[in-house]
Amino acid sequence: MKLLTGVSETLPAAYVTEERLAIREAARAIAMKEVLPIANKLDPVQGEIPMELRQRLGELGYFGILIPQEFGGLGLGVFEYVLVTEELARAWMSVASLIARGNGLGAGFSEEHRKRILPRMARGEYLGAFALSEPDAGSDVASIRCRAELDGDEWVIKGQKMWCTFADGADFIVLVARATPYDPANRHAGIAQFFIEKERGSFPAGISGTPMRKVGYHGWKTWELSFEDFRIPAGNILLPQRSGTDAHDGFKRAMRGLSIARVHTAARSIGLARGALEDSIVYAQQRVQFGHPIGDFQYLRFKIAQMATEIEAARALMYAVANDIDHDRLNDVQASMVKLFASEMSERVTSDGIQIHGGAGYTSEYPLERYWRDARLTKIFEGTSEIQMRIISDGHLPRPSKG
Ligand SMILES: Cc1cc2nc3c(=O)[nH]c(=O)nc-3n(C[C@H](O)[C@H](O)[C@H](O)COP(=O)(O)OP(=O)(O)OC[C@H]3O[C@@H](n4cnc5c(N)ncnc54)[C@H](O)[C@@H]3O)c2cc1C
Repeated sequence: MKLLTGVSETLPAAYVTEERLAIREAARAIAMKEVLPIANKLDPVQGEIPMELRQRLGELGYFGILIPQEFGGLGLGVFEYVLVTEELARAWMSVASLIARGNGLGAGFSEEHRKRILPRMARGEYLGAFALSEPDAGSDVASIRCRAELDGDEWVIKGQKMWCTFADGADFIVLVARATPYDPANRHAGIAQFFIEKERGSFPAGISGTPMRKVGYHGWKTWELSFEDFRIPAGNILLPQRSGTDAHDGFKRAMRGLSIARVHTAARSIGLARGALEDSIVYAQQRVQFGHPIGDFQYLRFKIAQMATEIEAARALMYAVANDIDHDRLNDVQASMVKLFASEMSERVTSDGIQIHGGAGYTSEYPLERYWRDARLTKIFEGTSEIQMRIISDGHLPRPSKG
């Protein structure tokens, strides 16, 4: 059935180029023809993203959208990154997330790492996991306790990490840990990123992992990790170190990376909401009750109108923020706004999609419940909605003296 509406067929005039339209069209075709059928088959049985699909995404260059061409990537911007992400998330959010494991994790690499690793990342042959969260440090990132201590020419790592998605399937882990002892008076000091190479499909001696049971996001596993005197070479600290009080500026770098990740999360949220809208438009024309397609009932028509409007609003903000990042006008507050707005919108819209499908929406025969389960997560990871509101309010009001 042809969709009457639901997707803006062109990009806003300020951003439209032939190349961008072509990128979006190609990603849309891949998502709908190659990703969606796999998602519909595997997600209900908690199956993981197949290796063949990962290879296909690699051939398309999707792991290297942000990687410079000199290192084998497409050398495009955050704008193109969110265009592709929205399309992939419309089919399966896990896949839209997987491409971040090439695009999002190389920021702190040394020149040697960049030459050796980025080309493989761009092809999707060498992908990473990110270990920041801990059992007692989620929103409060500056309270992490995982410790890296220098012993001769090696770092010795001890501590626990939570929620490390893809830790098993990854070829490396970017670990955020403390290179100096925890100082309550200067909690951000000493936080650094470390590079851990590993065999895909297992954990090296000194790291053990337990998979976590989740509501959704079934395309890959999420792990609790334990580091017990795990050793890596001294050179595997990722970010340039400075002398003096700002040695190890990992905290600031990690926060900048989170801003791009937040726009990427907005794109994931919008893709999910679009899935719910498009499927609802089809269903509303097929399902007949009281002698009419349910799409004839004004309440349902207005619900569709509301869903479409909310998606457009989120997308407009996402384009603006992505464009600003590409023009070196990164604004943390705006990145938080788009993440907050899009993820809250996505949960509402996907839930409305379930409602429009009635009982069918509450079964795994239709993907609506997957859209909703995954949309629910977008309000939690990459900084919860409350943390985004905290950042936004701090941008508008003087910080309170306590709290
Ligand atoms: C499926 C999944 C995958 C993930 N993948 C990864 C990953 O790959 N790598 C990684 O490092 N992490 C990952 N995370 C972790 C994720 O980033 C954290 O769950 C998130 O940051 C929230 O931390 P928390 O769960 O400890 O919640 P908490 O920080 O304990 O928050 C609990 C509640 O308190 C609220 N709250 C906390 N502080 C404040 C405050 N100051 N003001 C107002 N409200 C507040 C929160 O908003 C929330 O509602 C993942 C999480 C999930 C669920």
